[in-house]
Amino acid sequence: MTTVFKFGGASIKDADAIRHLTPLLEQHRDRPLIVVVSAMGKTTNKLEALLAAARGEGGTQGDEYRQCFDALQAEHREALEALFGDTADSPRERVDALFDELDAQHRRHRESAYARHYDQTVCYGELISTTIVAAWLNHCGIASDWHDARELVRTDACHQAANLDWSATAETVRQRLANSDRVILTQGFIGGTEEGEATTLGREGSDFSAAIFAHCLDAREVVIWKDVTGLFNADPRRFDNAVQLERISYAEATELAWHGAKVIHPKTLGPLQEKSIPLTVRSFETPDAEPTVIDAERRFDSDVASCILREEQVWVEVRPRDFSFMDEPRQHDILGRLVKAGMHANLVDSGAMRFAFCLDDKPERLEPLIESLQGDYEVGREDALTLLTVRHPHPGMMDTLSEGREALAERRNATTAQRLFRSRECPETWHIPE
Ligand code: ASP
Ligand code: MG
Repeated sequence: MTTVFKFGGASIKDADAIRHLTPLLEQHRDRPLIVVVSAMGKTTNKLEALLAAARGEGGTQGDEYRQCFDALQAEHREALEALFGDTADSPRERVDALFDELDAQHRRHRESAYARHYDQTVCYGELISTTIVAAWLNHCGIASDWHDARELVRTDACHQAANLDWSATAETVRQRLANSDRVILTQGFIGGTEEGEATTLGREGSDFSAAIFAHCLDAREVVIWKDVTGLFNADPRRFDNAVQLERISYAEATELAWHGAKVIHPKTLGPLQEKSIPLTVRSFETPDAEPTVIDAERRFDSDVASCILREEQVWVEVRPRDFSFMDEPRQHDILGRLVKAGMHANLVDSGAMRFAFCLDDKPERLEPLIESLQGDYEVGREDALTLLTVRHPHPGMMDTLSEGREALAERRNATTAQRLFRSRECPETWHIPE
């Protein structure tokens, strides 16, 4: 039965990290083994900066573009050099050719819509990283084949947040990947349209890619290899008493991800749940440490409370210009504009004459949205906010966490409590009440 491994950017951030993969993969002898890999380290962020430079004033002729491009290429060359030296196994020429393609795509798409230009260029992070990792595995005697996920994962042309064509994907994946006795190495995060254009599945989308392959091949298990031993009930960098979750359900993991826990891409769990494929989160540094297991069992979900911070939030209050109500047609109109702007409301509140919501501060989407709303409504906003979400809070917990701070908005139901605070009033390090 198939196993799917996913390695994120941190697990292949440089030559040393890539060397680390070899023993992990050697230990796993069952085939088929699908290995889904992200871009190296922070490459995707750097490709986003390169994109901004390409679309900026100097364009692909400008100094900023050249500097970003050269720095990225130098980093990858350095890893190649460290791994392969001058040996014939080095995929250096292939990697250089991919960088040339990347450069050409930036010239070709400078005038294209942003999201399309994004996908045609940012996908190179994964195309390049997998080329290096595949060559490295073969160099170490682990027989592996490189597959282009743009051909395997069929999507629509909704760039940057492409929707999957499950039946076309399943057909291709089964045809090409089932029964392989070699390691199958492919890219996370990216897919392709019927016309062969690259698409992406949303930031951190490699987890979702792993779930797609697992679903299509009825895999036995998905393992996400991380630089931590599993999922935690809060970000350990921000909460001084965060603990690891031993076991949670697909539904709980989806809620945590949906509310902003940077654990697993929220779309990952659905396809696994449908086929009862367990997901294990393990550390590539200490592979024998107790992992977190996610499966259908819901019994342990409320054992510990989980806390999630979403920072850089903006609270937007929309009011009618005349003395009319914020009724369904108006709410429909406003939410429609959110959809069009590609924005997600992290918390919603409404009253007779106001409709308010909290959004991520993504200026390129937020500002046009606000402008459009201002055309028809009175719009108020407050920036620099932090949204705190607690899953399975025990009584009084939210008040203790709030410590007399004013909440600009709040929401509560049987399993979840949320409060919105001014970031400057929030502590740098939080403590989860016992
Ligand atoms: N490389 C992509 C990103 O950084 C996808 C991923 O890592 O999952 O968002
Ligand atoms: Mg990543």
